[in-house]
Amino acid sequence: MSTNKRKQLYKIIILGDSGVGKTSLMNQYVNQRFTQQYRATVGADFMAKEVTIDDRMVTLQIWDTAGQERFQSLGGAFYRGADCCVLVYDITNKKTFENLESWKEEFKQQGCPKDPDTFPFVVIGNKSDKASERKVETEFAQQWCKSNGDIKHFETSAKDDTNVNAAFMAIAKAASSQF
Ligand code: GDP
Ligand code: MG
Repeated sequence: MSTNKRKQLYKIIILGDSGVGKTSLMNQYVNQRFTQQYRATVGADFMAKEVTIDDRMVTLQIWDTAGQERFQSLGGAFYRGADCCVLVYDITNKKTFENLESWKEEFKQQGCPKDPDTFPFVVIGNKSDKASERKVETEFAQQWCKSNGDIKHFETSAKDDTNVNAAFMAIAKAASSQF
């Protein structure tokens, strides 16, 4: 009899304002690449990466937005079935941090998670290499995360590849924690 009924594929979705570095983070994590200029993603809705968590090999299916986050709601199909939702802001842009709340609400409404109160979110403050232009203090962001259901918080640089792996390991763990 099979004893391991745990999922092997986890759907991760990355949300946040346009320009915060969502595509860059995913590209750094999956392909170890960073470029300054981004073409809008054409065709590819997600990238897959295999990781080992707790001695289990699983696949992370990481869904990115192709620029449409600027204009419209992404629609239920994009959100549905997600195992973890990553909310990204830019540490040099306060507005992108303030908008996390509405991204979180958008996800809860559109994604219809089974238990919205315990659904795993992870918050990433990206562009930590631009410390001299910082507008969002680490402690301030941590406090927000704490009072919003104790969300895990990371600061990363997709450019320098700082903390990107650590953040995605936590994302993988959060995704698999419910199963
Ligand atoms: P998205 O719209 O959220 O997908 O953002 P992109 O990944 O397209 O990145 C927007 C811009 O920010 C691009 O010019 C990237 O090169 C730049 N960028 C992304 N991540 C970083 C980072 O960690 N540090 C710096 N300095 N620039 C970044
Ligand atoms: Mg993008």
